Amino acid sequence: MTSGSIDLHTHSNCSDGTLTPAGLIAAAATAGVGTLSLTDHDTTAGLEEAQAAARRAGIAFVPGVELSASWRAQTIHVLGLGIDPQAAMLRALLDAQAARRRRRVEEMCARLTRIGLPGESLLSAVEAAPGIPTRTHLAAALTAGGHVRGPDEAFRRYLAAGQCAHVSAGWPPLEAIVTCIVGAGGCAVLAHPARYRLSAGARKLLITAFTSAGGRALEVVSGGNGAQHAEGLATLGIKFGLTGSVGSDFHGPEQAWNPLGRLAKLPDSITPVWRGARLTREHGGSAESFFP
Ligand code: AMP
Ligand code: MN
Ligand code: MN
Ligand code: MN
Repeated sequence: MTSGSIDLHTHSNCSDGTLTPAGLIAAAATAGVGTLSLTDHDTTAGLEEAQAAARRAGIAFVPGVELSASWRAQTIHVLGLGIDPQAAMLRALLDAQAARRRRRVEEMCARLTRIGLPGESLLSAVEAAPGIPTRTHLAAALTAGGHVRGPDEAFRRYLAAGQCAHVSAGWPPLEAIVTCIVGAGGCAVLAHPARYRLSAGARKLLITAFTSAGGRALEVVSGGNGAQHAEGLATLGIKFGLTGSVGSDFHGPEQAWNPLGRLAKLPDSITPVWRGARLTREHGGSAESFFP
């Protein structure tokens, strides 16, 4: 039996986390995590390093990704758990996502220039940082340049949807993203379902679209949801025949309020995603015992 907690949503500095993939695994081992998925935004670049480190640390590793999608003009995040990172359709999608991200950060910096901020040097700072470019990188550059007091202010004033430097990336439709995850052998999980600004009715329509496209699980317990949503999301998941996932959405030890692996228990009412789907590709050792 794999001991330790389960955390199926984390980031490394291959996207907008602050730890290297190996550093993330070391932190997970220290935190007592027994099963971990690395789910960087729109990239699988960290999976190999994390998987090797996890094997050495005796942590069951689930290769993952967090893909950006759009549904009714909103950005929706879908986790792909247990994906084959070499799958051709996924590789093509990730190349396109990276190009979208590069174009978007350039356009956001151009907008910052237009309002009198040094867009060119902010862009250079983002490009010099490790990882696929995200708004988190631009928020860090704005903070480092002394233009805002911190990332929160950067999002509030400039980068959040509706603010002056926000640019829509043109993410692919939700259905295409789910299809791609399924095609890569993965289990599609709707990330932090309570975080989207949707009415209860619209949230059900989102979950209907997600399920019809081949989605399998809801992230019922999430560092990004708040624990108070778990029971309601479990009930919703059961109604749609979905399983339940748990993940911190860890981005680094700096966000002390959101540690690795310290999550509320998945409600007993819903089948855990790790019983309903095959998530690891390794046999033997700790990975095998991941399937009770
Ligand atoms: P992107 O995928 O490039 O649009 O960046 C989204 C990332 O920005 C999220 O995954 C969060 O890590 C981060 N983020 C979003 N909103 C905020 C916020 N208000 N404050 C700090 N970080 C945020
Ligand atoms: Mn992020
Ligand atoms: Mn997310
Ligand atoms: Mn995330």
